Amino acid sequence: MKLKFFFLYLLLFTSSVFAGGPYVSDLVGHTGSAAHWPYDIVGKTWVIHWKYDSGPLTSGGPVNIDNATAIRDWVRPLFDTWKNVTLDLPSGEHVSTVAIKFVEDGPIGYDITKENHETFTKTPKPGDPILPTVVIFDADGSITADYMQDKTKRNSIAGLGQPFVDSSGVLIQRGFIILNGRMIDGVYKADGNDDTNNGEFVQNPSASNQAEVKKRFQAVILHELGHLLNLDHAQVNLDIVMNCSLGSCDQPEAVPTLFPNLKVTDQFTPHRDDKVALSLLYPTQAFNSKFCRVTGEIVNKDGKGMQGVNVIASSTDDAVRDARAMVSGVYYAPETEDGHYVLAGLVPNQDYEISFEPLSKYYNDKPASGFQPLGPTSPVGFTPGVISAADGTQTVRCSQGGQTIAMPAFTVDITQPSTGESPPEGGDDGSAATGKGWWCSLNRNQTGNVYDALVWMGMMVFGIISLHRIKRKL
Ligand SMILES: [Zn+2]
Repeated sequence: MKLKFFFLYLLLFTSSVFAGGPYVSDLVGHTGSAAHWPYDIVGKTWVIHWKYDSGPLTSGGPVNIDNATAIRDWVRPLFDTWKNVTLDLPSGEHVSTVAIKFVEDGPIGYDITKENHETFTKTPKPGDPILPTVVIFDADGSITADYMQDKTKRNSIAGLGQPFVDSSGVLIQRGFIILNGRMIDGVYKADGNDDTNNGEFVQNPSASNQAEVKKRFQAVILHELGHLLNLDHAQVNLDIVMNCSLGSCDQPEAVPTLFPNLKVTDQFTPHRDDKVALSLLYPTQAFNSKFCRVTGEIVNKDGKGMQGVNVIASSTDDAVRDARAMVSGVYYAPETEDGHYVLAGLVPNQDYEISFEPLSKYYNDKPASGFQPLGPTSPVGFTPGVISAADGTQTVRCSQGGQTIAMPAFTVDITQPSTGESPPEGGDDGSAATGKGWWCSLNRNQTGNVYDALVWMGMMVFGIISLHRIKRKL
């Protein structure tokens, strides 16, 4: 009995999950799957243990966020926001669609600083001890500057998030997020630091906008926790979003939490695209049985799979709110001839349009931000359009939950002139001073390598704990 359970456990633990919007895909076995946190077969949930920095989130500025406040009022509730994701059905039913559990293991016990952050932020090497997943508070931006090896980044990068996978390529072993508190309380040029030379200036909230700044930063935390959960950046409603600047947007509901930079405080709550991407990675049974999916492939004019084309399913009734996207071929390493996509969380008996577009070159070209697992660029030079269903209709609909609609392969010919490329934003690298938005940064190094033996030891410990729990239940 025990052995049977254990075997089943290991099987699930190491199996691939075909999932969506992932930041880290399997670059080891090339199985066309996303990486995911460990699965607990007894609790039927994916489990993430985390610890936190013992230092303050901010220091010395007008907005004082000490350690206890940051954890109690900000980080902990935002973990719960992801855990409690629901999608609505026309009947009014709120369906819980994400099966994840967060286990808070307490403080690290000391202040993580620019001198010691690499303990947690460096990509693991074979033989390294297995460390905890940590939430790092970077009160003065110095950790961000050191991590990015660019001191100016402390004035523009609000947060960083990184999951590390083990040598299996699909199992997330640990990760970290860095939260740059300097973006909350701000530092004047005149404070004696060396920012005077590069003309940069960070947020210095007046008493009147402190509440706004706090909300913005909570959106940053939610965004980075999304990366920790293996969500990649997302592009939906680009035409609307590109006309938004930080704090000013006609349709804030158009901006997903995982958009590459912060535009609106609305990103403080997950939008449909964010919810669907997370639900696809860590689905409840209800997500799989009550909603539908659309699958298909983008190919080039030679019929070969093409990566890097953004495919969107949007409701004909509410195209802005009910939209989800996936970049073709994201489950494979860069320069793989694969153009598959899956668009999930479609409501039965609702018409959806399936459209395609280039990724915004503005984001995709940035060395520090973008869409994984692509290289520095993705295909441009084609006109966005609609993908017709197999019967030639311009919309699709499913009749009941659990159905998958297969779209015919669709050819994107990049020799056509581009009319769909998004205009770049002005300004520099999105520093707070330009008002263009706060930036997040992704580490492009996706693979963490640890000894197989260590991985297997970890799996066995997890398996044994599960066995204990099974035994107790029996
Ligand atoms: Zn990000």
